[in-house]
Amino acid sequence: MRTTRCSLLLVALVLCAAACRGRPDVPILGFHAVVDSPGRLDVTPTQFVAQLDALVAAGFHSVPLSALLDHADRATPLPERPIVLTFDDGTADAIRVVLPALRARGMVATFFVVSSWIGDDEAHRSLHPAGADESSHPVLTWPEVRALHAAGMEIGSHSRTHPRLPELDDKALLEELRGSRRELEAGLGAPIDLFAYPYNSVRARIEPVVIAAGYRAAVAGQDHGGRSRTALYRIGVYRETSPQELVGYARAGTR
Ligand SMILES: [Zn+2]
Repeated sequence: MRTTRCSLLLVALVLCAAACRGRPDVPILGFHAVVDSPGRLDVTPTQFVAQLDALVAAGFHSVPLSALLDHADRATPLPERPIVLTFDDGTADAIRVVLPALRARGMVATFFVVSSWIGDDEAHRSLHPAGADESSHPVLTWPEVRALHAAGMEIGSHSRTHPRLPELDDKALLEELRGSRRELEAGLGAPIDLFAYPYNSVRARIEPVVIAAGYRAAVAGQDHGGRSRTALYRIGVYRETSPQELVGYARAGTR
């Protein structure tokens, strides 16, 4: 009997090792803007609250990305069914739409902002320059980034100017990584040690530079992400992602 049970356990472990390879144990979701006119990578406010409610109903408890790392490093406790919500680009809806929706549900998130895009005040609010596959939206100001942080949200770097890092030489690469960290720490008055790759684009030569620039971990997407702490796998949330699909991806830890 005991032998059978052990064999079953072994089979389960082997299957899990195969199925779980390449993604972290806790699902990490990757959102962009939450706006009325969503681009391909964005969601509408109505869609967003439905997604949050579906995750809550499915028993997920949000934690900041750093809680995952602390758990791995120091065995600090995680809630039951933990999940990490991340938001890239630092668009203004983070404070106007995302924060109230998260707070109403007792949820937290990690926001990855582009340091050179952050405006000093309302009069200097910049517009997220649209990339090939991203639509442009107003970007956060420094008082808003500080307010997000003061509200208990986690802030990380999404580079200085949002380039494709693999296209940069070593000097420019280090400047994007180190420079954004320096600017964010100065503006926020708090340490910054998490990074999200612009366009989720990362190559092997970049990962050691992320560590050299003082980061503790970095998140990527479905193509380049895996278990590596400097390229963690994120589940992308897109315009067409329904609440039910999102819960399915979160349960599976992949999409
Ligand atoms: Zn981005």
